[in-house]
Amino acid sequence: MSIEYDAVVAGSGPNGLAAAITLARAAYSVLVLEANSTIGGGARSAELTLPGFVHDVCSAVHPLAAGSPFFKTLPLERFGLTWIQPEIPLAHPLDDGTAACLHRDVDLTADSLGADARAYRRLMKPLARDWEKLATEFLQPMLHLPRHPIALARFGIPGLCPSTLLAKSLFKREPARALFAGIAAHSFLPLEAPVSSAFALVLGTAGHAVGWPIPSGGSQTIANALADHLAKLGGKIEINHCVENLDDLPKSRAVLLDVSPWQFVRIAGSKLPARYRRGLENFRHAPGIFKTDYALSAPLPWRAEACKCAGTIHLGGTLDEIAHVERQVARGEIPERPFVLVAQQSLFDETRAPRGQHTLWAYCHVPFGCKVDVSARMEAQIERFAPGFRDCILARHALNAVDLEKSNSNLAGGDISGGATNFAQLIARPILSPTPYRTPLPGVYLCSASTPPGGGVHGMCGYHAARAALKQILS
Ligand SMILES: Cc1cc2nc3c(=O)[nH]c(=O)nc-3n(C[C@H](O)[C@H](O)[C@H](O)COP(=O)(O)OP(=O)(O)OC[C@H]3O[C@@H](n4cnc5c(N)ncnc54)[C@H](O)[C@@H]3O)c2cc1C
Repeated sequence: MSIEYDAVVAGSGPNGLAAAITLARAAYSVLVLEANSTIGGGARSAELTLPGFVHDVCSAVHPLAAGSPFFKTLPLERFGLTWIQPEIPLAHPLDDGTAACLHRDVDLTADSLGADARAYRRLMKPLARDWEKLATEFLQPMLHLPRHPIALARFGIPGLCPSTLLAKSLFKREPARALFAGIAAHSFLPLEAPVSSAFALVLGTAGHAVGWPIPSGGSQTIANALADHLAKLGGKIEINHCVENLDDLPKSRAVLLDVSPWQFVRIAGSKLPARYRRGLENFRHAPGIFKTDYALSAPLPWRAEACKCAGTIHLGGTLDEIAHVERQVARGEIPERPFVLVAQQSLFDETRAPRGQHTLWAYCHVPFGCKVDVSARMEAQIERFAPGFRDCILARHALNAVDLEKSNSNLAGGDISGGATNFAQLIARPILSPTPYRTPLPGVYLCSASTPPGGGVHGMCGYHAARAALKQILS
């Protein structure tokens, strides 16, 4: 049978589009098949609540996109992508009405942490200076020969530590400890787990080096810019086309799958060798999330002034409190006061809501596959730091962990990270190999966030997978 395309990509998430662009840039013909009726996977926006309120369906805040070595090579601004940097990237309010803040400037952040200024500066300044080197090191498979071993060691030694241990040994006061814990909680690991600190270091360093920006107009503009660039390069995208079986794909030389390992097992059927298949079946997902988008009549009435100027706010209180609830989530329990992450895009981007009104993007961590509606607990947590919040709600749109999986099979059990990020799965993602994108099926590659470097909108999984395909099949 004759070849219809050089490559077929299943899934138009940031990684599927990144893979397609990498192949199209090398002058290969590419077709992207997307199951959903809209492109973008985890980078989409929609009017989820009321007319005129543009909500980010999944990703909202983009340190990894702004710092992605691959995105940096693309002319995405020409295709409509503009980053907005909130005045303060991240605020972490405490019960006394103050907030610890991550500012763009390391010194400003350090100085605001009082007695912990020196420790913060010593930890973060060298990492922020080395961001470019570090980004290329950790945004690729772990099994590689480092090009910047000194910078990597400076990051890797503290990064391997449990975040409770690192924060308590470095910082004396609660604001610095809580700020660190909130960022580390992006790992979805118990904060006593090794490597949970790595997440605080990567995201904290990115905050200083490239910010925690939001895209003007919503996250959909990231996907649209990638798709428009792909179209310019000759690539095609077909929506409403769910790939259910590898045999049903148009004939091609390479197939790149922006899908989870569990889904790959289903799509490949009996084709996979038993050992590889078992490896994928044993791949573990992270806990899930409960997500709510709000249309608000006014900005949030935060008690801490700094929160009124921050793009992202972490609501979880002290380090010990966050560590406790993250342990509960890992054990399968629903915390009474969950760790809640919010983004208030409309404060910085007037395209997101009608004049004077606002959007709020919020999610909290819940156990894998949790079907419980935790809206009341989440709202109580927001109300704790912004009394009067409930009075501002005009409309809400909520999705539990199972709804999330129904909207995109990659989000198994509501896991938004493409798989647990414990030490084993950071190295073997989804299997132990210097080229984990490659599968035992000739010409078939995995390119989703379940491959290195993992979750987040950065396109690096797709880029590396496409490079592997170019090297092995298409060259
Ligand atoms: C609620 C939420 C909040 C998030 N917040 C942030 C954030 O603020 N910042 C950040 O950087 N990251 C965030 N993320 C994570 C980020 O969105 C993902 O890590 C990223 O989108 C992964 O990209 P991907 O291309 O691997 O997969 P996805 O984005 O999941 O894309 C996969 C695509 O493939 C399609 N697909 C799946 N199966 C098939 C099939 N069989 N056939 C055809 N198409 C298929 C899906 O419909 C989807 O469009 C968030 C995710 C969620 C869900």
